[in-house]
Amino acid sequence: MKGKSGRSIAAISDVRAAVSRFCDEQLSRRLDTQPVAEVHQKVSACVQTVDPAMTPYIFGSTAVLGVHEQGSDVDFACLSPTDVQDGKGADAVSEVAKGLQSDFLFRLSEVVKREHYLWGIELVRRTRVPVLRVKGGLGVDSVSFDVTANRRNGVRNSALLRAYFTQCPEARWLSMLVKQWSKRTGLNASVDGGCITSYGWNIMVVYYLLRRRLVTLVPVESCDVADIAPMPPYMPLETPQQGGQALADMLMDFVRYYLDEFAPETEVMSLTRAAGETTKEMLSWTKQAEDMARIRGEKIHYRWCIEDPYEYDLNVGRNVTPFKLMLLRKHLERAQETALLLLA
Ligand code: ATP
Ligand code: MG
Ligand code: MG
Repeated sequence: MKGKSGRSIAAISDVRAAVSRFCDEQLSRRLDTQPVAEVHQKVSACVQTVDPAMTPYIFGSTAVLGVHEQGSDVDFACLSPTDVQDGKGADAVSEVAKGLQSDFLFRLSEVVKREHYLWGIELVRRTRVPVLRVKGGLGVDSVSFDVTANRRNGVRNSALLRAYFTQCPEARWLSMLVKQWSKRTGLNASVDGGCITSYGWNIMVVYYLLRRRLVTLVPVESCDVADIAPMPPYMPLETPQQGGQALADMLMDFVRYYLDEFAPETEVMSLTRAAGETTKEMLSWTKQAEDMARIRGEKIHYRWCIEDPYEYDLNVGRNVTPFKLMLLRKHLERAQETALLLLA
């Protein structure tokens, strides 16, 4: 079948069958959050040794989707009682604050090394946010997690995404389909040469849902760490309705939206204002700013703009270069033919 633009488009009946196979396959796997709860317990014990006042909060995919997918890491933010009480406060960005965060993570790394000597540990201090990366165990018992300190934004942005995904039954499935596709195509930043993190893809999914009025705007200020549990509750996934028809339609419409309707030259995907109202010009995300801007020596691109809901002046799509943008378009065109490779 050919679309308006003359490109080949997969037949919707084939897409529905493929989507339904994808969902069945996921549902046949273990998706509960028990393995995450076990890692949470181990990390909590180590944190307790370093500083009993600190609490590790889980964010990222476990919090966003309420399930644990194979291949996803676990994201932790260790928070102090003050961080939690001031649960809507902005995260400190000064070098002094980052130094204190690194110190805590260093002490934590020493305890983790002692308690779990087989786990691989790397403390990364020079990134925008200091992070302790841990890879441990073998086979089914393997764990992989990132720990940050005194940073609420991840906990808040995960709660925000969760508040969107619980508004519409197809949304979590769409997020999972898009994430897996982005990893398989190499567009996901977790793959070498990739450019948009899963977090970025999730904001793109939510922005699309807002544009289509399938969800309503959740005020960013409504997410308060003081109201959020350190270990997010499990939300079992259900088989999509009507044999996945609505989900198949949504999936193809998502691809169409980013290929034909979204205007990357002027528009910014943002969850801060009503969808469609944020422009690059408003944020001064211009060619001139692109020529000037650097984060730790790395160039910032404003070709594919995704405004972080909690960080000031941060483009989540900052690693999308002109070349990567072209690649993104090619993969979206191919996704239209193959229903995100489900038919490939
Ligand atoms: P996965 O299943 O692939 O691990 P995820 O839902 O956990 O997916 P990640 O991309 O690992 O998503 O993001 C986890 C957290 O890291 C986000 O909640 C966010 O706070 C932070 N983060 C990720 N990417 C960016 C980015 N490009 N800019 C700023 N913060 C980011
Ligand atoms: Mg993650
Ligand atoms: Mg991570």
